[in-house]
Amino acid sequence: MSDTIVAVATPIGNGGVGVIRISGDKAIEIASKVFLPWKNKAPQPRYATFGKIDFDGISDDVLALFFPAPHSFTGEDVVELQIHGGYYLGQTIVAKLIDLGARMANRGEFSKRAVMNGKMDLSQAEGIIDLISANSQTSLKAGANLMHGVLKSRIETLQNKLTDCMCEIDVALDYPEHDIDYITTQKVAKICDQLSKEIDRVLLTSHTGIQIKNGVKVALAGNPNVGKSSLLNALVGYERAIVTDIAGTTRDTLDASFEHNGVKFNVVDTAGLRKTKDKIEAVGIERAENEIRQADIVLVVVEKDEDLISVDNPNVVVVQNKTDLGKKLNVKCDFSVSAKTGENINGLKDLIFEKTIDKELLSNELILTNVRHIECLKQAKKNLDLVKKNQNDTLDCVAVLVSAAWNKLGEITGSTANETILNEIFSRFCLGK
Ligand code: GDP
Repeated sequence: MSDTIVAVATPIGNGGVGVIRISGDKAIEIASKVFLPWKNKAPQPRYATFGKIDFDGISDDVLALFFPAPHSFTGEDVVELQIHGGYYLGQTIVAKLIDLGARMANRGEFSKRAVMNGKMDLSQAEGIIDLISANSQTSLKAGANLMHGVLKSRIETLQNKLTDCMCEIDVALDYPEHDIDYITTQKVAKICDQLSKEIDRVLLTSHTGIQIKNGVKVALAGNPNVGKSSLLNALVGYERAIVTDIAGTTRDTLDASFEHNGVKFNVVDTAGLRKTKDKIEAVGIERAENEIRQADIVLVVVEKDEDLISVDNPNVVVVQNKTDLGKKLNVKCDFSVSAKTGENINGLKDLIFEKTIDKELLSNELILTNVRHIECLKQAKKNLDLVKKNQNDTLDCVAVLVSAAWNKLGEITGSTANETILNEIFSRFCLGK
């Protein structure tokens, strides 16, 4: 953490503005060797200073921002140079800054330093990544809440209750000769049980959370030519799939997404399920069956009575397509649309939403969207539940479990995460982050 690091913080490519971030003890000294403020005015902390960069024939007009420690993203001295967003320009300036003593930052190293310096916890750093990679209104909100510490404060509340409990256990173990009302394993078990239930309530959001983050999987199934590809196009609002009247056109699975009520839905158009001798089509059908099994909901598309098929998924909606042709069916359909005219497509989206999303949970401030957090909470809960099971054991035995639960919770915020876990998490961040 002692070296000064540098990276382009904006995406690779050409754009209006590019930002170079420098962080570390020598950030200001190194930046000052390439940045010349206008009229030589000394830059004010946290104010934009106009000036230029001029070295070895490279020249650009620049805005520089100086953030002296500790009031910066990383908690160290930070300089951000807003240059013009050219790839070559950015790389050349970074190379010069490295020549002057900075080191190329590793992936996620700015965020790692921010966590190490106590500017945010690990879950908040992960929230920034979720915010950046959000692809729907709800995933954006979940990312922002995580970044703003909603999970962090919930975890800290749980940990504080465990800390109190551990202190009381310590007193009982260390000063048994004093005549005070010591905590008993039964009392510890009661506290752990309450905390386990609190964790349960949080874990209840994880299914919805993962749906929000990855998108809800909607599979289209049905006989060839019933209009699955047309329905995919109608749902996503553009011509994603090829539509023909030749049966068996869709041989591979094909996906595209749409957003409805702030949630992202990934629609998979599958190969028509029919018996075939065609090798390629057969592979496509096998893939289709896999997609159908894994989907959150399956739309079985029918045009006529004989099209009704059964599929391997508990959440099925039978959709009659081609209502514009005015055909009456004897089989019971849940919904009718015309992929061709767009009739009822929005209603179908409402139905998909109703049948896949827990609306009440959507308004929760805290929704678990990160598998790592979910796993840590499950492990913490497991230890808490063991306390209840072992309440006839000695205090020092349950103390071990309480402390294991506390440590698992700490892995979420990073307070008890070891170097390997931290490196593994930050290596998934992008460069310059
Ligand atoms: P898939 O094989 O199930 O994917 O079916 P396609 O989407 O390729 O459509 C098969 C044929 O049905 C094409 O000729 C489409 O133009 C036609 N089709 C699809 N949807 C509708 C609809 O809502 N109304 C009418 N009249 N024709 C449709």
